[in-house]
Amino acid sequence: MSIGWWIAAGLLIVVIGQLIVYRRLKNQFRQTEAETLRLERKLSFVRNELAEAQTRRKKLLAASTQALIIVEKDHRVSSANKVARRLFGPLEQAATFTTWTRQHQLRELVDQTLAGEKMPPFYFSKDDKTLEVHARSIKGRSRDGKKQPVAVALAIHDVTELQRLSRARRDFVANISHELRTPLASLRLLTETLLNGALDDQSMAVNLVNKIVAQLDTLYQLAQELLDLSLIESGQAPLKLAAYPLRSIVQAQIDQLLPQAERKKLSLTVDIDPDLKVLADETMMGRVVTNLIHNGIKFTETGGITISAEKISGLPAPKQTDPLEDWVMVSVADTGVGIPPDEISRIFERFYKIDRARNRKQSGTGLGLAIAKHIVEAHGGRIWAESDGKSGTTFYFTLPPEE
Ligand code: ADP
Repeated sequence: MSIGWWIAAGLLIVVIGQLIVYRRLKNQFRQTEAETLRLERKLSFVRNELAEAQTRRKKLLAASTQALIIVEKDHRVSSANKVARRLFGPLEQAATFTTWTRQHQLRELVDQTLAGEKMPPFYFSKDDKTLEVHARSIKGRSRDGKKQPVAVALAIHDVTELQRLSRARRDFVANISHELRTPLASLRLLTETLLNGALDDQSMAVNLVNKIVAQLDTLYQLAQELLDLSLIESGQAPLKLAAYPLRSIVQAQIDQLLPQAERKKLSLTVDIDPDLKVLADETMMGRVVTNLIHNGIKFTETGGITISAEKISGLPAPKQTDPLEDWVMVSVADTGVGIPPDEISRIFERFYKIDRARNRKQSGTGLGLAIAKHIVEAHGGRIWAESDGKSGTTFYFTLPPEE
C-alpha cells in the first residue's frame, strides 16, 4: 500500500475516534444538562419551601401575644416581633440587646443562658407592668463540630393582670375566713355558755338561743351573698329585662323595710313619678334598691332616707360618658354618718367596710354594694356615691329608660 493510503486510513481512524468521543461527550453533556435541570428544580423547590417557612415564622411571631426576641452571641438582636418593638421601641439595625431594651438586669439572664445554664423565669417591672421572661439557648455547631449556644430566644409576657387576680383571690379567701371566724367564734361561745349551766335558766337560755339564731342568719346571709355574687359575676344569672314602673319596684322594697325604719324612728320618703318606667330585671333591681335603703337605715340615727328619680340626658360629670345618652337617674339619700371622701371609691369593692370599729354594731358582709354594682352595670348603668363624710350619703345609679 502506498503512503497515501496509510495517511487516508490514519485520518479515517482519527475521524472515527473523534466521532466516538464526540458522541460520548454529547451523551455526557445531555446527562449533565438533565442533572442541572433536576438540580435547578430541586433548588427552586427548596427556595419556595424556605420562603414559605420564613413567612410562617413571621406570621407566628406576629400572632404571638408575647414579645419574642432572638439575641445573638455578640448581643445583637437578630429578631424581634411587633409586641417586643411595642414594648421596647423601634429596633435600630446595630442595636445590642441592652442598648435597645435598657433593661440591664436582663443582660445576666442572656449571658448565663449563652453559657449553657437553664435559667428559671425572670421577672422585671416596666411602666407599672410586671413582665415575665423565659430564656432558651439556640445551639449551633462550632468549627470543631461541637454543638454549643450561639444565640438566646427570649419570650416576655405581661403578668400584671395575672398577679392582680392572684392577689384578689388571696384577699378574697382571707376576707371570707375573717367574715366566717367572727360568727363562728360567737356561736361557740354562746353554745358553751348554754352547756355550762345557762340551759337550766329558761329566760337566759331563750336569750342565748335567739343570739345563736342571729349569728346563723349572718352566716346564711354571707353564704347567700357569696353565691349571688359568683352567679352574677360569671354571667349565670341572665337579666330578664322588661318595662317596669320604677316607683312600684321601690315601693315593694319599702314595704319590707318599713318595720326596720320605724324601729329607729326614721322616715322613708319616695319621690318618683308613677309613670316613669325603666327597662330592668325586676328582682335584680329590687335587690339594688333594698341594699341601698337598708344601708341607709343601718347608718342613719336621725332623719331618714329619700328615694327619688329623674330623667337625665347624659351622666353628670365626672361620670359622663356620652352626653347624648338618656338615662333614668335614681338617688337614695340618707341623713346618716356619711362616708369619708377618701373611702368613697372603695365601698363597691367586695368585703370593703369603712372603719370596722364604726361598723361594729352593724351586721353586714361588705358584699352588698359589690353585688349592686354588678347588677347596675349589667343593666348598662353606673353607680356611685357622694358624701361630705359627715352629714349623710347619697347613692346614685342610672338605668336605661323605657320610652
Ligand atoms: P355591708 O353589708 O357591710 O353593708 P355594703 O357593701 O353594702 O356592705 O357596704 C359596704 C360599706 O360601705 C359598709 O360596711 C359601710 O361601711 C359603707 N356604707 C354603705 N352604705 C352606707 C351609707 N348609706 N352610709 C354610710 N356608710 C355606708
